[in-house]
Amino acid sequence: MLIDNHNRVINYLRLAVTDRCNLRCNYCMPSEGIDFSGSNELLSISELIRTSEMMVREGIDKIRITGGEPFVRKDLPLLLKSLSKNKDLKEISITTNGTLIGRHLPLLKELRIDHINLSMDAIEAETFNKITRRETFATVYENLLRMLDMGFKVKINCIVLDGQNIDQIYPMLELTRNYDVSVRFLEEMPFNGGSRQFDTIRWNYKEILSYISQAYPEYERLPAPATSTAMNYGIPGFKGSFGIIPSFSRTFCGSCNRLRISATGDLITCLYGKPRINIRQLLRDGSDDQSIAGHIRGALHTRSKTGFEEQQRYKGVFDNSMTSIGG
Ligand code: SAM
Ligand code: SF4
Repeated sequence: MLIDNHNRVINYLRLAVTDRCNLRCNYCMPSEGIDFSGSNELLSISELIRTSEMMVREGIDKIRITGGEPFVRKDLPLLLKSLSKNKDLKEISITTNGTLIGRHLPLLKELRIDHINLSMDAIEAETFNKITRRETFATVYENLLRMLDMGFKVKINCIVLDGQNIDQIYPMLELTRNYDVSVRFLEEMPFNGGSRQFDTIRWNYKEILSYISQAYPEYERLPAPATSTAMNYGIPGFKGSFGIIPSFSRTFCGSCNRLRISATGDLITCLYGKPRINIRQLLRDGSDDQSIAGHIRGALHTRSKTGFEEQQRYKGVFDNSMTSIGG
């Protein structure tokens, strides 16, 4: 079992498989992109498989595949097939922008990978395409409807962006009237590759909820697991639900159960900190699994209690883009 220096059990791994992406969301990276890693710097599929198997042996039972955009990686199905054979993994999920997932849906169903987080910051093409700086809304929306039709458990991530998509909040909520989908509104974080700096946000979780309550005053709080980052709500009579994730306000750090591995093998114990070790380097230096696991356990003993504490320790973390961290 993996336990950190604050006695928190770590059982959830967010595993990034690439830092590349076919979109250019303006809250994630500059329009020209970032300095993407060379393919030799990324963990290979066999390194990803070895790393995830090792992490599961150490006590991870939930893995989320993320990126960059996971489906730009052509060999991703090999990793998914391998993970799905691991009986000790209780849940495999994927965070995706939904542009390239379409042709993989039958395989995902076959592998029983049915928890999909879809990033969709608008439900109207013009706003969506403006935020993502590409013209893919029709494909993403079609894939959303297909996933719902095929019975995937879909959560939509919508970053609330001042001056960009506030008018989309109510229409996004309307999706939950007829579809069994969870729409989660996230606070914007300053991980955008240096293109926008801020240390306060207007649309924090309280403002988002207050805005929602003006149109849907009858909303009700729903229970959520202790380690959940989302506060969940339902609107009576609606098939789906909605959530608010205080990713910038960080009200949930105390019960953090997660660890991140970036596409280049950096072990990240907190979004707001710097990587502790590089697993790719250890793997390529010939370290065995036991010794790498020892390094990981050691890194877990240097965790800050909260993201605010971690941010104080490591300056310059906001130069990063979320595409390199994995979200
Ligand atoms: N490309 C995939 C996607 O967009 O779903 C996976 C990677 S993306 C980095 C993971 C998540 O991070 C997405 O839900 C995205 O909206 C979110 N994200 C990216 N930049 C963010 C930021 N600056 N603040 C808050 N969330 C952000
Ligand atoms: Fe790509 Fe996801 Fe970042 Fe958008 S949020 S640019 S889809 S990695």
